Amino acid sequence: MNYHSNPEQLSGKNGKDAVLSPGDGQFPPTRQRQARRDLLERISVFATRHDLEVTSVNLAIICSALSGSNGELAEAFAAREMSGDPIDQRWLDTVMRLDPETNARMKELEKLVDKLEYSLIRFSQSARSAQSETNDHREALDEHIDAISRAGDRLQNQAEFERVIALSRSMLERIEQAEQAMERSQAESDQLRQNLAQARMEADVDHLTRLPNRRAFERRFKSANEEARSAEKPLCVAFCDVDNFKSINDKHGHDAGDRVLCAIAHTLSSNASDDCFVSRHGGEEFVLLLYGFDKDAAWRKLDGIRRAQAAKTLMNRETGKSFGKITFSAGLAEVTEDVDPRSALIRADAALYEAKETGRNKVIAV
Ligand code: GH3
Ligand code: MG
Ligand code: MG
Repeated sequence: MNYHSNPEQLSGKNGKDAVLSPGDGQFPPTRQRQARRDLLERISVFATRHDLEVTSVNLAIICSALSGSNGELAEAFAAREMSGDPIDQRWLDTVMRLDPETNARMKELEKLVDKLEYSLIRFSQSARSAQSETNDHREALDEHIDAISRAGDRLQNQAEFERVIALSRSMLERIEQAEQAMERSQAESDQLRQNLAQARMEADVDHLTRLPNRRAFERRFKSANEEARSAEKPLCVAFCDVDNFKSINDKHGHDAGDRVLCAIAHTLSSNASDDCFVSRHGGEEFVLLLYGFDKDAAWRKLDGIRRAQAAKTLMNRETGKSFGKITFSAGLAEVTEDVDPRSALIRADAALYEAKETGRNKVIAV
């Protein structure tokens, strides 16, 4: 029997809506509800204890870990708690790469953009070939009209002849209009494709420093890892975080802080050679990929950049005052040492934390 077809079970005897009690089959059993409540409670306690922002991404990742729906994440959370290292936003951002759901959403979006680009290419191709076809037709018709006009002089039935000519001319006009419309559509689709290519490029660039952004890094990290493994060459990854940056903002203001970030981005990119990929990971943090560098070589390279930065005295051009010495700390790890490249990110992150804990303005390799 269809449950909903029985009005007795949907409304009370006195006509009022019946209150469905647990066990009616409308709600899950109490134990499930209790488990859900417990999970929500644990998520809330966790976010509060670690002073984490309540954002949809943070909640999703904490939920995946605490519910155990993502075993890898659950293990990473447990290991981090055991080690006593902080579970803060930057660690959460790093570990987020372990979450297949977030990655899947990113990939889905990229697939959609790929599809759009493909459709535009196809549209542009078919518009182009339709345009050249109508062009051929128009030319052929044009020739015919000329031929008919010439022959017309010899024809007897003038009225019939003029009707054919008029019909042909209007056909020609319509073809010309269609041709122009196609030309316009083609120009529009070319423009759209250009915009899309530009948007794709912009999506990979950090607006403040113009360095590649985190999204670009993620992609590059994946391909660099695959290339390094197949060529059996080393690859290192390093996180660099500006020291005491908050105090720069506090003392000089956010705009001055932005200029300092640009200056550091410049130090990093101008001192890094072609075999380094420098990107802004977010906030006052940068991430580098060092191609073909083993851990020692990467350490020497990065420590050289750190010294170059530490030797500078940056001036606030708005006030003429000095920002003082602005340094960064870094943690680096060799990606190819791990079977899973993502573990190298976690190790580099832990090394950065150690560099901060042990005095800042240093590079630690693990
Ligand atoms: P630590 O040496 O431990 O890294 O200290 P810190 O002060 O650098 O680190 P903390 O995480 O306490 O502060 C980072 C600050 O960076 C807080 C945030 O407001 C600032 N920040 C993040 N992104 C930007 C940005 O794009 N522009 C500016 N001006 N500030 C930013
Ligand atoms: Mg930071
Ligand atoms: Mg910092």
